[in-house]
Amino acid sequence: MPTYSIAVIPGDGIGPDVIAEGLKVLQRAGDRSEVAFDLEHFPWGVGYWLQHDVPMPPDALQILAGFDSIYLGAVGLPDKAPETVGVGGVVLAIRAGFEQFANVRPVQPMPGCPWYIAHRTPEEIDFIVIREATEGFYCNLGGRYRSGDAEFAEVSTVRPAFAESAEIALQTGVFSELGCRRVITYAFDLAQKRDGKKHVTSTTKSNALPHAMGLWDEIFEQVAAEYPDIAHDWSHVDALAMRFITNPERFDVVVAPNLFGDILTDLSAVLVGGLGFAPGGNLSQTGPSMFEPPHGSAPDIMGKGIANPIAAILTAAFMMESLGEQEMAGCIREAVAKVVSEGRALTPDAGGDATTTQVGDAIADAIG
Ligand code: NAD
Repeated sequence: MPTYSIAVIPGDGIGPDVIAEGLKVLQRAGDRSEVAFDLEHFPWGVGYWLQHDVPMPPDALQILAGFDSIYLGAVGLPDKAPETVGVGGVVLAIRAGFEQFANVRPVQPMPGCPWYIAHRTPEEIDFIVIREATEGFYCNLGGRYRSGDAEFAEVSTVRPAFAESAEIALQTGVFSELGCRRVITYAFDLAQKRDGKKHVTSTTKSNALPHAMGLWDEIFEQVAAEYPDIAHDWSHVDALAMRFITNPERFDVVVAPNLFGDILTDLSAVLVGGLGFAPGGNLSQTGPSMFEPPHGSAPDIMGKGIANPIAAILTAAFMMESLGEQEMAGCIREAVAKVVSEGRALTPDAGGDATTTQVGDAIADAIG
């Protein structure tokens, strides 16, 4: 029987609640498909930081390196710790540490999920957003500067208002040739494998950010030329955001730099019924990949037992697919689709009154 080692990081807020349901469903599907798991839990995040002054131990990456996959809930509690502690100290550190360059967000709505696009049906929409996940403006480069600092003097020459300001802040985005090429190539490879429209859309904002995004655009055209069988187009990110709503049926694979991908994927989550329904994963070619529902720790509903676990459950299915267990992934997705379409157990964000546990139980039961 194949056995997969999974490092489980439940995290903060609703993270532990939704991960518990994800694991419940995973175990049930594993029993059915004769797949076993070697699970180890790591209590990292803001809770850990409050006790140890660090969000995860210094050798966290060495520990995680030995696992087949990482399954993470969500980290961050803005009332208890600076925002750099959770997302920066855990999620971004793991993504960068294992070069998890492709953040993959499938956009495949299920009949029965909350529906916001009146002129389309769930069956018409099926695309994937690939967000570059290690570079861009998420490298924590920059700083805050005042008169007397060399950076202040340099920026002051750009515009008088900068020179008159008490303080300036710089946030540097880094786009490397390698980083752009590998994620764009991944997008074209995926379009080739998918049974879809054989089309890749890239998005930038090179009219306003010509250096970094100019490099991305150039590499996109170079990679596109290597895939004559895949159609491609390009859009400024503001126009693309509009098209996600006006023409979501036209997309197949969308590839975006880190910051734009981050924003666009919350928008694309709306197309599948909201953050509670959207799965996600960060893929690495050299170390373990990390699978996490894109939503955060949802402090506004934590402790109420009403977080929607479906995003975490579909994320577990995505993890199994990436580990080569397609049949098991399909079985989990079918069980979710059945429960959602029947409206049997839905949390309040989806118009129901079920608890997190009841939804997890219903999906586990639907697996049989
Ligand atoms: P959020 O995703 O936690 O919440 C946004 C809204 O969506 C809230 O109203 C919340 O109740 C709702 N929501 C989210 N997930 C839900 C679910 N499964 N079921 C029902 N409703 C759900 O975003 P936020 O409020 O901006 O961030 C809260 C914290 O989470 C912050 O500290 C942030 O940095 C962190 N965060 C972490 C990750 C991560 O760990 N990868 C991702 C995003 C945000």
